[in-house]
Amino acid sequence: MLRLEGVSAGYGATTILDDVSLEINRGEVVTIVGANGAGKTTTLRTIVGLLQPTRGSIKFEGQDVTKLSSHDVVDLGVILIPEGRQLFPDMTVGENLLMGAYRKAARPRQSAVLEQVLDLFPRLQDRLHQKVVSLSGGEQQMVAIARGLMAQPKLLMFDEPSLGLAPLVVSQVFDLIGKIVATGVTVLIVEQNVYNTLKCADRGYVLENGRIVLSDTADALIRNDHVRQAYLGL
Ligand code: ATP
Repeated sequence: MLRLEGVSAGYGATTILDDVSLEINRGEVVTIVGANGAGKTTTLRTIVGLLQPTRGSIKFEGQDVTKLSSHDVVDLGVILIPEGRQLFPDMTVGENLLMGAYRKAARPRQSAVLEQVLDLFPRLQDRLHQKVVSLSGGEQQMVAIARGLMAQPKLLMFDEPSLGLAPLVVSQVFDLIGKIVATGVTVLIVEQNVYNTLKCADRGYVLENGRIVLSDTADALIRNDHVRQAYLGL
């Protein structure tokens, strides 16, 4: 579904991603594991067209999207739920959700999609008319995820979905990601919570200093000595 080949990217003269190749098949849950500053967010931003690669190519469903604008990549169904949620705090939950239906293909079916999305988030149903600023951190993360779903993504990318949330809420977020995968959406996750993420992923890549140093099934990565020492604290 998605294939990066030899992608380099960075900010100004600084190269962050160096020769990154990875692929995601339809229906998979894939994770990128890496330390702070390894380039995980940069990878997601490059996939969604917010950054242009300086080398290499990106293909989505066989189409070369390397040089497309973010707007066009989103229209193809690649949606990023950014770190820190980036909601509109003074608008209601419902207004924030409707803003998510920006993808052309999603607009005509907006009300039907809203109903489907709310089925997955019963708590938000009760809070549709409440301002986002009045919600708890966990509820705000749910709004951010629900807003991503409003675009009817084919590939949904999560950047640190559990950041700053209490352990109980973290497990709710992971349960929810499982439910989203069950609806047929393909998922790419970047998370500090490496163990939980590998538990729900099919495969993973380890990114160090902007380079992929390891790639394997999630089960094999959990057993890998380097991953255990560097990322699982075992
Ligand atoms: P974290 O988990 O801390 O977010 P990450 O693996 O997602 O880490 P990135 O956010 O991709 O890392 O950052 C990789 C490098 O790029 C870092 O050294 C960071 O300082 C740098 N960087 C990120 N955004 C910018 C920017 N807008 N301009 C310049 N440098 C940037």
